[in-house]
Amino acid sequence: MSEDQILNEIEQNKDIYIQLLRDILQAESYNPPGNEKNVALIIDKYLKNSNIKSEIFPFGENRANLIAYLNDNIEGKNLLYNGHMDVVPPGSEEEWKNPPLSATIKRKKVFGRGAADMKGGLTAMVIALKILKKLNLKLSGNLILTAVADEETGGVLGTGWVLKNKLTTQKCDFAVIGEPSGLDPLPKAIILGEKGRIELKIVTNGISCHASAPFMGKNAIYMMSEIIQNLEKLKDNIPKIEPPMSSSELKKQMSEAFPSKDIFEKILSEQPLLQNVIKANTLFAKSLTMINGGIKPNVIPNKCEAVMDFRLLPGQTTEMVLNALRKLVNNLGYQIKEKPTGSPEEIFVYIEVLKQGEASYWENWRNSTVLTRFHNIIEKVYEKTPIYFFLPASADAAYYRNSNYCNSTILFGPGMAGTAHAINEYISIQDFINAIKVYSLFAYDFLK
Ligand SMILES: [Zn+2]
Repeated sequence: MSEDQILNEIEQNKDIYIQLLRDILQAESYNPPGNEKNVALIIDKYLKNSNIKSEIFPFGENRANLIAYLNDNIEGKNLLYNGHMDVVPPGSEEEWKNPPLSATIKRKKVFGRGAADMKGGLTAMVIALKILKKLNLKLSGNLILTAVADEETGGVLGTGWVLKNKLTTQKCDFAVIGEPSGLDPLPKAIILGEKGRIELKIVTNGISCHASAPFMGKNAIYMMSEIIQNLEKLKDNIPKIEPPMSSSELKKQMSEAFPSKDIFEKILSEQPLLQNVIKANTLFAKSLTMINGGIKPNVIPNKCEAVMDFRLLPGQTTEMVLNALRKLVNNLGYQIKEKPTGSPEEIFVYIEVLKQGEASYWENWRNSTVLTRFHNIIEKVYEKTPIYFFLPASADAAYYRNSNYCNSTILFGPGMAGTAHAINEYISIQDFINAIKVYSLFAYDFLK
């Protein structure tokens, strides 16, 4: 049987696969600045050696996206695998037990920056492509792999660019993004939606003067303080939106991992982590994360800058948040200017969008038989039932879903979401091999 052929092939080549993962982990692609081309070159070579059509699209300084096709057929149904090549910088390297680029193997795990997020998933997808090519199975339709840049800084130059410029004639019937979807202590999750994120800069512009006569000026830090004290009012000004998966739905999904509902309720009541996961997945969140103001102890400051981080539910937009914030500022009696005038004599507030990534959700997942098949393959390979879930972090999936290019996009990959971006990031080798099995078996099932 073809499934056995696939599984045998994987069992026999584990060491080669682990070596490819280590090569890719050792290729530095910290973003910023990116350097994704280091990774693209390794993938391109590996695929071309397997007679798979692969093309690198370089940009900027040593950056690149890559697209590969299992075959020449683009008329039939297409399955899209997506993985990002960039990783977040390692932070202070001294804190790592093994250097972040060493790809050290210890205790059946591979350690290194990007092991979970998401060079493990990306490598497993590359290998799945090779396995299907090598076994020369009879397939209709195509498997397309996009290895992208820029995900960690918003994805405009990665998935956004590929979608706009390269996937214009290839339709997509189902897409998998290989982000780590382990949610320890829960079983593997299939992620159907993610929250959005925006980053706003708020500048209060006051009037500077000598601190001996503060009434002659306008203290910009006090202005900011007024805004901060009123932030709770923001949510009254933002349209109420039901979370895509309610608390009870999320609880129901989580409870399936436990022997009984009572045991789950008991564990939930004892585990703040699980409670917080539910909270983060169902609520609009806002935080003031940076603040800066003042130049001297005896000078009334004329400028104070703050940065805010917002996490949006699907349906909430940047414009909604901006409008709510503008209303709040106006109600405090301050003018809002479109540009910082630089004038030391004016009192106003300036708001700037620094970053924005939309939330998204696959509404119709309950009706998808393809998704059920994906679910069943995971269950078989991992010997544990996966759960359907939502993610409080944002991901490239929003590009596919919100443009209607491919609503049926899911996140599934090896590694624990909790170790992403962390010191001593790792992936378990068994998890990595299992992901290769899932990606290969599913692609075969989808295209046979
Ligand atoms: Zn990621």
